[in-house]
Amino acid sequence: MDTQKQEERYERARAALASGEYKVTSLGEGAWSIVNGDNVPYRVTHATCECKDYQHHAHSDSKCKHICAIHILFPQAPEKKGGQPNMNEPNALTGWTRLYHSSGAQVTLPITYGVAGIMYAQVDAYLSAGFQVNAPGLEEGEQKQEVVSVSRRESSDGTPIVAFYLAHPKTVKKFLHAYLNKPEDIAAFEAATGLKLDSIPTWPGERDIDKDHKDAGTYIVPLPRPINLVWEVNPKWQTWSAEGGKSTGAIEPHKRILVRYDAASKPVTAPLNPAPEPATPTANLGEPARKYLDNTLCKDDPAERVAFDAYLKAIGQSPASLESLRTWYRASNGK
Ligand SMILES: [Zn+2]
Repeated sequence: MDTQKQEERYERARAALASGEYKVTSLGEGAWSIVNGDNVPYRVTHATCECKDYQHHAHSDSKCKHICAIHILFPQAPEKKGGQPNMNEPNALTGWTRLYHSSGAQVTLPITYGVAGIMYAQVDAYLSAGFQVNAPGLEEGEQKQEVVSVSRRESSDGTPIVAFYLAHPKTVKKFLHAYLNKPEDIAAFEAATGLKLDSIPTWPGERDIDKDHKDAGTYIVPLPRPINLVWEVNPKWQTWSAEGGKSTGAIEPHKRILVRYDAASKPVTAPLNPAPEPATPTANLGEPARKYLDNTLCKDDPAERVAFDAYLKAIGQSPASLESLRTWYRASNGK
């Protein structure tokens, strides 16, 4: 193998990647398509290529510039069988990009530190393979948060305001609140939470009640199951923050705005729970169904119901089974 020629091909591959001349697309199974300046796509792996140069030199164990490009973009671990590390494939310094798999899993993927154009092409290759910038189902700037309980108060003109809370016991303040200005807002709230607005007692305060308030047990109501809120940062808060935030003495606007309820998502913590039936006028709306994660219903036994509600409030989700509720109740009551 001619080391000098190989070096030149690496240089040309680097230049082509850096200038954006190569369009690299993942074909899966360790293969990529590289479209040249001449618009011909070649199927390339770490060892083979369809181009004439490779076909011509295939016997000599040398790499064409397309194979070089794949080695630059996707360095392989150094070969174990005593091979010399290839100095053309520096991968000691690595950056990272955080992307989403279509399942919603967040992944951190390596980017080989080097020429900006090459790093750019690496990200392109990840995106073309199907990795996503935003979590599936979310627009740019949107974020998702699971909430487990809700309180209600009223504005001075009587508009209902609902506040949502996280399961985390140290987070005592509401995560965000929303005005239910229109009948559609109330309908969306009731459909998403499975709670009738009128079943939630109205907290008389002017600010949302905190979880560590002595009356929280009355006014903060657990949701029948956790739900996801899609929210975004309030542009007014961003402006306030950019202009100096608290140091200016200006009143801090609310940080988070409810965009919508994430109705599409299945409850993560209760995979066995089927979606609630659409509410009918005859349904017992004040009493959310107490259902274990194994799909059995809580019996009409006051002690069991009290324990069930205590569990839901403490843990933020239904117990797995009656047996696990008993175990927890005994443990938490020192019996
Ligand atoms: Zn080639």
